[in-house]
Amino acid sequence: MPGEFDLIRRYFGRRATGVVLGAGDDCALLDVPHGHHLAVSTDMLLEGRHFLPDVNPQSLGHKALAVNLSDLAAMGARPSGCLLALGLPAVDDAWLSPFSQGFHELADEAGCPLVGGDTVRSPQGVVITVSVLGSVPVGQALRRDAAQVGDDIWLTGSLGAPGIALRLLDGRLPADDRRLTATRDALEWPGPPLAFAAELPGRARAAIDVSDGLLQDLSHVLTASGCSAVLSFDALPVHPAIQDLPADVLKPVVLTGGDVYQLCFTAAAAHRHQLQALARQHATPLSRIGTITGGDAGTIHDEHGHPLSLDAPGFDHFMD
Ligand code: ADP
Ligand code: MG
Repeated sequence: MPGEFDLIRRYFGRRATGVVLGAGDDCALLDVPHGHHLAVSTDMLLEGRHFLPDVNPQSLGHKALAVNLSDLAAMGARPSGCLLALGLPAVDDAWLSPFSQGFHELADEAGCPLVGGDTVRSPQGVVITVSVLGSVPVGQALRRDAAQVGDDIWLTGSLGAPGIALRLLDGRLPADDRRLTATRDALEWPGPPLAFAAELPGRARAAIDVSDGLLQDLSHVLTASGCSAVLSFDALPVHPAIQDLPADVLKPVVLTGGDVYQLCFTAAAAHRHQLQALARQHATPLSRIGTITGGDAGTIHDEHGHPLSLDAPGFDHFMD
């Protein structure tokens, strides 16, 4: 597209540190530490589908990278670099400047330099594809199929705030400026627990990031691992800004609300104290929310034996 090279130089051409060769050649070159696998993942964000045209471009730049870093965290991988493929309807400096700022600020903080990408004209709207590269010790990646019966189930951060913010913005909940102010950052500025996650290999077994909702994402781990789970609703960490909401609003959002970008992982009970110490060290909120059990693969029950699923009849007792 016209001005492509100028655009890349201006907004995405910063010299990457910590890599053999950054953007500007046909490929970037990165080291993979000895005894590690290369972990790779990619996610697309489409205007109108994953974000609204009027979203704050700085938070969009942050979120486009954050959702990818969250996938590395869920594998226990340490970030080593990222790629950014952008489709843009036009070269709009007022948009590109804050977008690239939000992106680079998180890349710097995470130690995940931008090492390349692609830039094309996209008349239908903005398309953002980010790919991340990371490394994880061989044999210690936090795979979804690795949970074992008897494991503790842990969750970082808190639940519910992004879901409430989204419902306030799209009108599913009546307008409430005070509540929106208190929850909006959780939706627009997700902060996956990267440093904590990179210390989980060798300590945790299976992990997933909560992007589609706790029940759905945990059920992926359970299905892959051939086991089931018992969760205690009262043990779930509810974001402080929404704890006063009525149960019929709060509980579905806590259990099924997406865009959380925190980690749900399993670990042997023997690691309990070590994990809690690690979480304190990284200032990562950590809650023990349940146990892996040997029932029907993929099912989730509460501690009273009721199925914990939005479409199961047993869910109703959470609506009271
Ligand atoms: P090629 O013709 O090899 O695909 P391009 O002209 O697309 O190269 O890009 C030139 C250089 O700029 C490459 O190193 C590429 O990785 C980098 N680049 C292009 N777009 C972006 C972007 N949005 N962010 C970061 N680097 C980019
Ligand atoms: Mg290209």
